[in-house]
Amino acid sequence: MRKILVVGAGQAGLQLALGLQSQGYEVTLMSNRTADEIRNGRVMSTQCMFHTALQYERDLQINFWESQTPRVEGLGVSVADPSLAPDSPEVRGRVIDWVGKLDNYAQSVDQRVKMAGWMETFAQRGGQLVIHGAAVSDLDFFARKYDLVLVSAGKGELVSMFERDASRSPFDTPMRSLAVSYVHGLERRPEHPDFDAVRFNIVPGAGELFMIPGYTLTGPCDILFWEGIPGGPLDVFEGIKDPNEHLAKTLELMERYTPWEYARATKVELTDARATLSGRYPPTVRKPIGTLPSGGLVLGVADVVVANDPITGQGSNSASKCAAAYLASIVEHGDKLFDADWMQATFDRYWDTAQHVTKWTNALLTPPPEHILNLIGAAGQIPPVAERFVNGFDDPSDFENYLYDPAKTEAWIGEAAAKAGA
Ligand SMILES: Cc1cc2nc3c(=O)[nH]c(=O)nc-3n(C[C@H](O)[C@H](O)[C@H](O)COP(=O)(O)OP(=O)(O)OC[C@H]3O[C@@H](n4cnc5c(N)ncnc54)[C@H](O)[C@@H]3O)c2cc1C
Repeated sequence: MRKILVVGAGQAGLQLALGLQSQGYEVTLMSNRTADEIRNGRVMSTQCMFHTALQYERDLQINFWESQTPRVEGLGVSVADPSLAPDSPEVRGRVIDWVGKLDNYAQSVDQRVKMAGWMETFAQRGGQLVIHGAAVSDLDFFARKYDLVLVSAGKGELVSMFERDASRSPFDTPMRSLAVSYVHGLERRPEHPDFDAVRFNIVPGAGELFMIPGYTLTGPCDILFWEGIPGGPLDVFEGIKDPNEHLAKTLELMERYTPWEYARATKVELTDARATLSGRYPPTVRKPIGTLPSGGLVLGVADVVVANDPITGQGSNSASKCAAAYLASIVEHGDKLFDADWMQATFDRYWDTAQHVTKWTNALLTPPPEHILNLIGAAGQIPPVAERFVNGFDDPSDFENYLYDPAKTEAWIGEAAAKAGA
């Protein structure tokens, strides 16, 4: 039986470990935290996952929270009046406000719930779980005992083993500051009270507010997520330690910059004492193979090798897609050696999908060109434009067909308008 070591128990590491286990591999999973420490720890993400990524979980029959988690059936975009300066005290209106229906629903299960549950399942199914924060020296020792070592340790220190790929990483500093609060008590959007949707609110020149229906330790919830342009008026969470102060700041910004969302948030309270998160990181693509001091090779997984900014909500989706692609490559490789050529080919298979996520995400981190603004505006009048755009969150490769080239964008808007009779 082939022996595989997975280092890091997040979306990618656990999905891979459970998948390999179900295929009969002897899997060891190394995690720097126990299931209880994860469950009782701080929130880690907003983790909204779309159909393709969720389907990989269903395929492995590990979609344990699907029935109790709110179904996100649409995604809406609002743009605050850009004629007001980011620091203007005037009450803002919206110049754009629409919602598009997803072909299949999305869901967000708090990673504290999911990772803790998956970790316990892995151990109950006979997997070997080692609670240890792995250092490079540990991997050097263990690599000799395993046929393959997969490093799925997210954005932790082990990424230093993998060289930054400058040709695929246009930014070398964080492009947004991040501030998340999980809450109960949010009222539904009056524009679509009959279905749940992720709301993507853009405050031109300052940043974005995401509102994401989710499922947490205490049941269904909503997640409020500010992304602030560094140094701007939304980049104000650093140093706030008290969760209630963090929520108060979140609401204060909503009242000022997105009053239409604040109106339904006046009664919210945090879901628990660890329901807030703030931070920032530079979006980075890395070379996929790490070389250990003794010459052994390890393969990077998901965020270790491709960490995009969460502005497009893709990281967990990509982690699921990466785990599925790696699982298929491992199984197809049979008993052959997991050498450098196989590792590179395995990553390249994932990059076929990930490259579209990286291109699209990076495009949204700088002020959008006029043709993209036109498209977002047209989506409010022409439903098929909105629907195609929101379904791109499930399959960002479609943006290649119409988003980046002004002529293609214009042609698509014209075609959709003609079909819709607009
Ligand atoms: C604020 C925010 C909002 C986000 N919103 C979304 C969203 O809406 N949709 C979406 O799809 N994605 C979102 N993401 C991104 C998503 O959460 C990540 O991309 C995804 O979790 C990456 O999965 P992963 O398995 O690669 O790494 P992780 O989930 O980070 O898991 C890595 C695991 O490895 C452990 N670890 C680290 N170092 C070691 C070590 N040395 N030894 C052992 N274990 C170690 C960590 O503790 C962790 O448990 C968001 C991220 C952030 C920060």
